[in-house]
Amino acid sequence: MHEKCPNCNLRYEKQPGNFYGAMYVSYAISTGIFLVTAFILYHFFNDPSLEVYLITILVVALVLFPINFRFSRILFLYIIWKSN
Ligand SMILES: [Zn+2]
Repeated sequence: MHEKCPNCNLRYEKQPGNFYGAMYVSYAISTGIFLVTAFILYHFFNDPSLEVYLITILVVALVLFPINFRFSRILFLYIIWKSN
């Protein structure tokens, strides 16, 4: 991630630990991923065993982690800029 915006030179990290708040956004997105995956397994794969739920949710969460990581930071930046 860039320290400053290449276009307008805005600093992204205003203070040390600025992105700890993004962890909460990431947590919320992860919860959504878990729920949607479980919903799909239940309704479209005929409610498989608990092991299938756990492994599928783990794999989906790991595959989507790079997207989740970046997206939660972007969302967090929007949230703190809106409140300032
Ligand atoms: Zn910019």
